[in-house]
Amino acid sequence: MKAQVLNKYDESLTAESWVDYEDVPDPKITNPNDVLVKIGGSGVCRTDLHVIEGVWKPIMDPDGNSLLPLILGHENAGWVEEVGAGVTNLKKGDPVILHPRISSGIDIEHRRGEDMHGSGSFPGLSENGGYAEALVTSERNIVPLPKSLEPKAVAAYADAGLTAYHVAKKASRVLLPGQYVVVIGAGGLGHIGIQCLKAMCAAEIIVVDMSDMALGLAKDSGADHLVKADGTEVAQVLEITKGLGAEAVIDFVGEKGSTAKGLEMTRPAGNYYIVGYGENINIPTVDLIFTERNIIGNLVGTWADLNELMSLADRGLVELATVEYSLKDANQALHDLNAGKVKGRAILIP
Ligand code: ZN
Repeated sequence: MKAQVLNKYDESLTAESWVDYEDVPDPKITNPNDVLVKIGGSGVCRTDLHVIEGVWKPIMDPDGNSLLPLILGHENAGWVEEVGAGVTNLKKGDPVILHPRISSGIDIEHRRGEDMHGSGSFPGLSENGGYAEALVTSERNIVPLPKSLEPKAVAAYADAGLTAYHVAKKASRVLLPGQYVVVIGAGGLGHIGIQCLKAMCAAEIIVVDMSDMALGLAKDSGADHLVKADGTEVAQVLEITKGLGAEAVIDFVGEKGSTAKGLEMTRPAGNYYIVGYGENINIPTVDLIFTERNIIGNLVGTWADLNELMSLADRGLVELATVEYSLKDANQALHDLNAGKVKGRAILIP
């Protein structure tokens, strides 16, 4: 089959071409619970750029040379092509979306529903992913799609959407009417997070972004207040929140100074949820204890979260803005993402 393969890291992210369009061996079913999925769409994610840069090397490739060549792509949806002998709930042709983690189901974390923790693998990060015509996964991490949802239209929910849903669900559980939530970054994740917040809580949603295009998308997604990140964004958020800051701040950026600003936008006893990553969080401990602010990490979401998100999508309560690229144009999609030129989410279609 054809696939886009990462053959070498590019720490400076300046190369013209990052992945190579190659013929690779067809993936095969080897375990009874395996499912061969024909890819309908694979989302192009900032994490893919971070993999190319080598940010994940210490975690996924600690000796620095055993992971590559690697087929990228961890946001995958498609149709069941073939199932192993032990698979009873899926058949050829079923539309499916793939939870980004292949977990054993045996570990205590998995029995508690936390599929992103415990042992397991991340296709596209720790093993071959979905920038390809097909992918083998396990029955356990598949969520069947309702008839209303087309694989290529929902592929990016597998990680971007799931992560946005997971953090919006956490924040929604503590947000009350009359309170505020700030969303920093209205890109691929942010615009889904805004819709999830709109569907699940009654707090006023303030969206901060430096791009007018992203703020336009935020408005369409249900933002109540738009704040241009022009250096005065903290002051603008404090003004909207009557000088106190928001009860919840969700930071989808996590680099270029957003963490310090995000914490300044968080009111005493409020929660600062960090989703995007890249820089270190630096706050004097005395500030943190005096204000009782909480810093909360977020890593994708559970299999149940992905089901719940598909229910919202099925009802039309969340919609994903996508831009389609042919699989052979993966480098173009990655460069467009890197240049901030993708409105919503880029999807590779084999
Ligand atoms: Zn992703």
